[in-house]
Amino acid sequence: MVKYQFIIDKIRELFDEPEKVIPLHAPVFIGNEKKYLEECIDSTYVSSVGKFVDLFEKNIAEYTGARQAVVCDNGTNALHIALKLSGVVQFDEVITQPLTFIATTNAISYCGATPVFIDVDRDTMGLSSKSLESFLLNETVMKADGCYNKSTGKRIKACIPMHTFGHPCRIDEIAILCEKYKIELIEDAAESIGSYYKGKHTGTFGKIGVLSFNGNKTITTGGGGMLLFDDEELAARAKHLTTQAKVPHPWNFIHDEIGYNYRMPNINAALGVAQLESLNFYLEKKRLLAKAYDDFFQSNQVLFFREPENCISNYWLNVIILESKEERDLFLHESNYQGVMTRPAWCLMNKLHMFENCQSGSVLTSEWFEERIVNIPSSVRI
Ligand SMILES: *Cc1c(COP(=O)(O)O)cnc(C)c1O
Repeated sequence: MVKYQFIIDKIRELFDEPEKVIPLHAPVFIGNEKKYLEECIDSTYVSSVGKFVDLFEKNIAEYTGARQAVVCDNGTNALHIALKLSGVVQFDEVITQPLTFIATTNAISYCGATPVFIDVDRDTMGLSSKSLESFLLNETVMKADGCYNKSTGKRIKACIPMHTFGHPCRIDEIAILCEKYKIELIEDAAESIGSYYKGKHTGTFGKIGVLSFNGNKTITTGGGGMLLFDDEELAARAKHLTTQAKVPHPWNFIHDEIGYNYRMPNINAALGVAQLESLNFYLEKKRLLAKAYDDFFQSNQVLFFREPENCISNYWLNVIILESKEERDLFLHESNYQGVMTRPAWCLMNKLHMFENCQSGSVLTSEWFEERIVNIPSSVRI
């Protein structure tokens, strides 16, 4: 009998699946997906122009409360555009957390900038406003064109907190600090569609917010991303940059800067429109699963990560925290061997060789999480 058999059995029971592999997060298509895809194909507008692109942007803006939304072909590229629009250029620095997916730090690198790693909070797994404040207070100096890092001499142009596994970080406190130090705030809300901080949707607190619709996220377009804006002019700039910077004209090809082909095809947007219609249903189901996990782990003295105070989480991926790296590895072995997909947290960004020379403060909480987190199956159960 293996040590964590009781958890593996419980997961099989909750998913009503005695034999087959239980994925970590599988997409669910129970709404208008096929209908809209067929409509899209019949119209022949399967590429980057079409009604579903506009409709998806409008519906996401409405859902999140953002003034404007601009689609992208994936979340990583959306982050790249967000950084460019925030004025991040070569040799700048961007603050982020070490406990994140590689997309966040890759996007920073695409701009020729480097990340500075600040620790996360124990109760949110997201960027710590306290650690950020003490870093800004002690390690930076203000100049005419912004905030400078005393030890590297570089300008700190932006800050990207991430709402880890769908749990909101202290985004209002981070927003106040960014404003005070003239640092642009970009929210990596790739994992947190349907998550709210003090009643406001994540991704709408900073200058720009980014969502992802990758296949493993809460809703999917196959691959896709979205930029959220309050500033309409900035949204128009995003549309321009993601569409090869083509100047609108009935037939001429004039491009007025280096642009990108980061458009989401209409066929992906068709999927997105249908998925968004089901989002509230998915979120209800995900809360029920999280509640069932919470009750079970509480009665078995296993630490289950709950939504932070003042927050509603989408519970994208449910998290348990085991007692040590050894226990975590044991559970990962036992569960995956038996076809119950579980995953550790990402290797911390400051430990990857591309970023190991980047500045990082004390990241003890991130390290504590890195050794103990396990994501357990979190799909919507029908
Ligand atoms: C999924 C994700 C992204 C975006 O990833 P894409 O696959 O490019 O859409 C960005 N940041 C985080 C933290 C993510 O989890």
